[in-house]
Amino acid sequence: MIKKLFSIVLVAFTINQVKADEGMWLPILLEQLNIEDMQARGFKLTAEDIYSINKTSMKDAVVLFNGGCTGEIISNEGLMLTNHHCGFSSINSLSTLENNYLRDGFWAKNKDQEIPAPGLTATFIISMFNVTDSIIPYLNKDMDEATRNMVIKQISAKLEAQFKKGTHYDATVRAFYYGNEFYLFLTETFKDLRLVGAPPSSVGNFGGETDNWMWPRHTGDFSMFRIYAGKDNLPAAYDPNNKPFKPRYSFPISLKGVQENDFTMVYGFPGRTQEYLTSYAVDLTINTTNPNRIDCRDQRLAIMNKYMRGNDTVTLMYASKARSLANAYKKWKGEMIGLKLNDAVTKKQTYESKFQQWANTHEGKNYRNLLKDMEAAYTEYKAYSELVDYTSEAFFAVELLNFASGYKKIAALTASDTISTEFYQLEAANFYTNSLNFYSKYYVKIDKELFATMMKLYAENVAPALQSEYFKAEATKYQNNYTAWADALFSKSVFVSAEKLQKAMSNFNAKKAKKLLNDPAYRLYAEVANRYESQIKSGINPLNEKIGIYMREYMKAQRLMQPDRDFYPDANSTLRVTYGNVKGYTAKDAVFYTYQTTDEGIEQKYIAGDEDFDMPASLITLFESNNFGRYANNEGELPIAFIASNHTTGGNSGSPVINANGELIGTNYDRVWEGTMSDIMYDVNRCRNISLDIRYTLFIVEKYAGATNIIQELNIVE
Ligand code: ASP
Repeated sequence: MIKKLFSIVLVAFTINQVKADEGMWLPILLEQLNIEDMQARGFKLTAEDIYSINKTSMKDAVVLFNGGCTGEIISNEGLMLTNHHCGFSSINSLSTLENNYLRDGFWAKNKDQEIPAPGLTATFIISMFNVTDSIIPYLNKDMDEATRNMVIKQISAKLEAQFKKGTHYDATVRAFYYGNEFYLFLTETFKDLRLVGAPPSSVGNFGGETDNWMWPRHTGDFSMFRIYAGKDNLPAAYDPNNKPFKPRYSFPISLKGVQENDFTMVYGFPGRTQEYLTSYAVDLTINTTNPNRIDCRDQRLAIMNKYMRGNDTVTLMYASKARSLANAYKKWKGEMIGLKLNDAVTKKQTYESKFQQWANTHEGKNYRNLLKDMEAAYTEYKAYSELVDYTSEAFFAVELLNFASGYKKIAALTASDTISTEFYQLEAANFYTNSLNFYSKYYVKIDKELFATMMKLYAENVAPALQSEYFKAEATKYQNNYTAWADALFSKSVFVSAEKLQKAMSNFNAKKAKKLLNDPAYRLYAEVANRYESQIKSGINPLNEKIGIYMREYMKAQRLMQPDRDFYPDANSTLRVTYGNVKGYTAKDAVFYTYQTTDEGIEQKYIAGDEDFDMPASLITLFESNNFGRYANNEGELPIAFIASNHTTGGNSGSPVINANGELIGTNYDRVWEGTMSDIMYDVNRCRNISLDIRYTLFIVEKYAGATNIIQELNIVE
């Protein structure tokens, strides 16, 4: 009996030790902070299996893909799996009207057919080190921010040089906890990546924007690239003679799928979270910033979509641009709803009053005025928020104005009398050559309509006292008829087309350069940008700097106040582990979502010819045959996607989703609508990451695409 009682007490103790699902943890701290909890939740391996510098570990198969997504190595010939939406802009660029891989998909049936994808990168983390103690002792409270940053930069440069000496690696020092800690990352970046496989967009983006950020989900969001290496298996620029990279590790793939409550972990490069913001910042996000940005993108997207619909040429030009606009736009909407539903401001206020109580004690005395100061800074910032939001999201939404900004370099030359005509001509030729890339994806009708709509938004939302005088004078000249203004500006500016620009730049000289200062697009850009830059310098930057200092102090203070709490650092595109369990969730009153979707859902959503819900006919036939082979679950269905409580964010797109045995079971690609606020406040009841079930990926590769060459490369554990 005593023994039994003892074991009950032990179990209760263990349960208490289980942490919240929230958190994006640094792999080098797992041993110290998380591994017991992970194992209590079902993980069967060790912290060393996840991250080690002494032996191969999972980290050797995880890459930062193209700076903003994650990819994982799935074969010992450098095959990398990521999301379709991560490969999207590359697949888009490799597509033409004749070979429309974006629309129709692409499958290399052997390595010779793989298509070089210029510009793509895959970065491995070789090792990471806590270098806080090499930096913090050299900083002190009396330093102004510029000096502090300079000291950090100088020490970081020394450390970086020291760590990468004699290797082909790069080294970067990154700040964590708002500058309270620093870590150095040693990395290896490959630059010869080739497209191996991508499903048609109707599969890879099934559900389109309608389903984006939503559950239940049926998107086959994956694409595959191969990393190529030069001599000695080292990174090299593209060369047809490069060989497939031999990785240190590649993930075994499990076809066992998931059951409710199964342990899962996501290993990747989450981009940005702000979990420690104050109530003032959250209030600003909910009530000002997000509504402003949504307002602009709503109209930007409506215009782009109108011209893309039914027009393949325009779609190839704008699909990628519209997609990234729409992705953040919809997230901000969901985030706003979630934060409100979750009473985020009130919760933060409650926490802050506890903080203030502590700050009023002897221990917290250095932080007594911190929250008051923070509140004052945010109140001041609020006066600028429309200016900031509508300058970036409305004024600079006009592609012509953005593009004209590139003329700044030549414009600067006109201040001097000693520039030779040859130099002007050289600069003009460079400008023109670089512009061709811009024009290849520029549809002037879209931009003209954008101009009229965005200038109106800017004029109506930015306080007149903060607008540039030139902007106001021009708007008045056209009697606030923004369409008339657009007509005039687009007919006069030389920046609207390659032909006009070429003419303006031929036989270029100082006189012509000066004349272009009055081009209406360049002039408008220059006037608004100059005014804005001075506002940034005098008002916005000092405020941001203040807020930065307060946040650094706030972070430090919170850790002092709660010494037993494990604070995870906000995401900053560095390698993290997040773990949780497969679980459904209650979305709203009377609505509970289960954790797995199947082919049946695709058949229910399928609408032939629909923009978002069409599917290749041959795939529908395959579904109807119910012949899913080894990819079927126990009920004979084809599993499509599943959700779990892993705390993820943008940048985790494409991350490996790993089971208790360290095997790959899926690819992370999204979060559920009710949980998009997890970048600011994670709630275990509502926040779920969405993963593409690896069985659907492999079904598409093998049964739909017939790419058995790919399947043969994989290490599948059945
Ligand atoms: N779908 C998301 C993105 O790419 C991933 C996430 O944020 O969870 O931004």
